[in-house]
Amino acid sequence: MMKSPLDTMLNIAGTTVESFQQVEGYICLHIKMLNRGMQCPYCQRYTEKLHQTTYILARDLPSFGQPVYLKVPRRRFYCRRCQKYSTERLDFMDWQQVHTQRYEQNIYQRVLASNVEQVSREEGLTGEEIEAIFWRVNQTVKKKIGVGLND
Ligand SMILES: [Zn+2]
Repeated sequence: MMKSPLDTMLNIAGTTVESFQQVEGYICLHIKMLNRGMQCPYCQRYTEKLHQTTYILARDLPSFGQPVYLKVPRRRFYCRRCQKYSTERLDFMDWQQVHTQRYEQNIYQRVLASNVEQVSREEGLTGEEIEAIFWRVNQTVKKKIGVGLND
């Protein structure tokens, strides 16, 4: 499948931009996953038995000076062998977060360079939200450093 210019700019592997809209000063990209199925996390068997799709809005890095939100499908698949439903994990977003990982990493770097209040003002998020992002990314940074030291 050919990548569209928007897919190239979005730069998230395994996805394509189905459509986009500009609403009240922000851009919303509707994302479609290119994979048709997933591995069952219980038995590792591949399933394409889609049970349901809901959508979440996830904040991503801004483009052209405007905030960007991704409309991301959360898909639940069914495994006939286990008779269990599982939600698809996404590489670019953590479980149950409403920001992409690269957006959270960007917030983390900016808090390090300035402070919570300033980033909160710039992003239109509360101080609590900025702090929650900061500590979440800080934990993953610590884990990575920890692995490095133990190797
Ligand atoms: Zn299974």
